[in-house]
Amino acid sequence: MKKVGIVGGGVSGLFTAFYLCKAGCEVTVIERGQLDDGCSFGNAGMIVPSHIIPLAQPGMIARGIKWMLSSTSPFYVKPRLDWELVKWGALFWKHSTDAHVKRSIPVLRDISLLSKDLYQELAMQAEIDFGWQEKGLLMLFKSEQAALEMQHEADVANGAGIEAQVLSGKEVQALEPDVEVDVRGAVYYPGDAHIVPNQLMKELVRYLRRQGVKILDNHTVQDLEVRNGKVESVITDSGSYQFDEVVIATGAWAPVLTRKLGMALPMQGGKGYSFTLPRMAKNIKIPAIMLEARATATPMDSSLRFAGTLEVAGTDMSVNMNRVRGIVQSISNYYPGMKVAMPQAEEVWRGLRPCSPDGLPYIGRVDGYTNVVVATGHGMMGVSLGPGTGKLVSELVLGQPASMDCQAFEPRRFG
Ligand SMILES: Cc1cc2nc3c(=O)[nH]c(=O)nc-3n(C[C@H](O)[C@H](O)[C@H](O)COP(=O)(O)OP(=O)(O)OC[C@H]3O[C@@H](n4cnc5c(N)ncnc54)[C@H](O)[C@@H]3O)c2cc1C
Repeated sequence: MKKVGIVGGGVSGLFTAFYLCKAGCEVTVIERGQLDDGCSFGNAGMIVPSHIIPLAQPGMIARGIKWMLSSTSPFYVKPRLDWELVKWGALFWKHSTDAHVKRSIPVLRDISLLSKDLYQELAMQAEIDFGWQEKGLLMLFKSEQAALEMQHEADVANGAGIEAQVLSGKEVQALEPDVEVDVRGAVYYPGDAHIVPNQLMKELVRYLRRQGVKILDNHTVQDLEVRNGKVESVITDSGSYQFDEVVIATGAWAPVLTRKLGMALPMQGGKGYSFTLPRMAKNIKIPAIMLEARATATPMDSSLRFAGTLEVAGTDMSVNMNRVRGIVQSISNYYPGMKVAMPQAEEVWRGLRPCSPDGLPYIGRVDGYTNVVVATGHGMMGVSLGPGTGKLVSELVLGQPASMDCQAFEPRRFG
């Protein structure tokens, strides 16, 4: 059976390990951290087949420019003279079209539904416990403008076979009997779900180790030794390793390794923040996106996690408390009874979403190499698409027919 090395122990890397291990491969995961933090841990945990419209869409750039003028807004591009950022921005702009949205909807839907099916299977098998809940998602809105946009999104979703219901403020309140909700209305996606991401990651690590997967934490991959169109050795700061196949699942940092193979992978880190209120006396029942604020609220057992902000900031990991204040200020607009205090900086989690410029993931082989696969670029949906990604990568590595057409995810699509 094949010996596979997976670089990166985020949700993409671990689900790849999961399906390859199930297929009988000898799997090693190499992770530079300790597998207790990173983008796959403190996120909002939403499993969202409803998200079929990519971030690169008409109107997004104009909205982004408006948001840039406020220090507490949910979107920001850190201005800097950086050729990678300029290239990424130009590609984002090029793809913010109706034609791109139309092309992306069926592929995002298919990978999302594949992933959700796999999550359901996993929850049923009960090999790992990750807090799986199928309660749907509420897209809460307050303004007339947002109501119009959401009606359109609901029509698009229903047209693509994803159920969406437009609800009045009263109907939303009826779904949330324990907490006051002050909104004009919402779109309810009953097919969405949520998990506790920190628990998913911890359980995956535990399960994989028990199944014999080698997980080398505190190992940084520094180089890839290549010969005759193959990666022969993966060089880490603690020795080198040989594999039949290598998977690059290093999130926002993937370009560092693909560059060594001569492949430019347009990518920006989309920094976001979260903080979690433990032991809520009264909690919401259904995860929600507070639309105008672009902030999220996810119930996780008795806790409630708020998340938000997308700062296009390369791989800068600093915490900007003004953006966090923006999230805090939006909460009582939607949930007037919740008086949430500003968290201390050390209570704020931050993560870098690996954002491709067209809003589609990179899943596929690296050109010119017979034994390297890339799995990254999932932006705001990496957890949602984790099992689907792992399954598709395992099929590529094993030379099996793919569960869906992955052409739209080709890493080389930007040339
Ligand atoms: C605030 C916020 C909220 C979010 N909410 C949701 C949500 O509700 N639903 C959803 O689906 N998604 C959500 N996301 C997005 C999701 O978290 C990401 O898309 C996903 O975690 C990316 O997973 P990944 O495995 O590709 O990358 P990562 O989790 O970043 O993993 C990559 C790993 O590679 C390691 N690495 C990098 N370079 C090297 C190297 N040279 N050697 C060894 N290891 C290396 C890194 O340490 C890291 O652990 C959210 C993100 C944020 C920030």
